[in-house]
Amino acid sequence: MPIDATLPYDDTNIFARILRGEIPSTRVYEDAFALAFHDIAPQAPTHLLVIPKGRYVSWDDFAAKADDAEIAGFVRAVGHVAREAGLVEPGYRLLANIGGHGHQEVPHLHVHIFGGRQLGAMLPR
Ligand code: 5GP
Repeated sequence: MPIDATLPYDDTNIFARILRGEIPSTRVYEDAFALAFHDIAPQAPTHLLVIPKGRYVSWDDFAAKADDAEIAGFVRAVGHVAREAGLVEPGYRLLANIGGHGHQEVPHLHVHIFGGRQLGAMLPR
């Protein structure tokens, strides 16, 4: 079920628990601003998730409230993870789902990195 991205941050969400190390994940990168790990149900040969360390429900929440260092750190981390995964030359896709129409399921901002095959057109028509 998609979440309501206007609700306050919920510290029990699954990605908050992954950040705290309470549940396992296959981590590929971590720095002061971001954590990256493999999606549990990959939809492409490479399917990584990058999340900010701060308590942000969605891209909207992050864009409105994060400070400049958090935003720069997070954006750089997404680029670094994709680069380290070897995705720059063949190309890749970033995706952030927000709220109901975006079909966001986990209420902690995450950017999907998809790659490793031809991903086709942007959205099903
Ligand atoms: P959303 O629809 O919110 O953009 O995407 C949520 C993503 O989180 C999905 O691709 C789903 O497979 C992934 N996911 C959900 N629970 C877990 C989990 O416990 N561990 C990991 N690694 N990924 C998860």
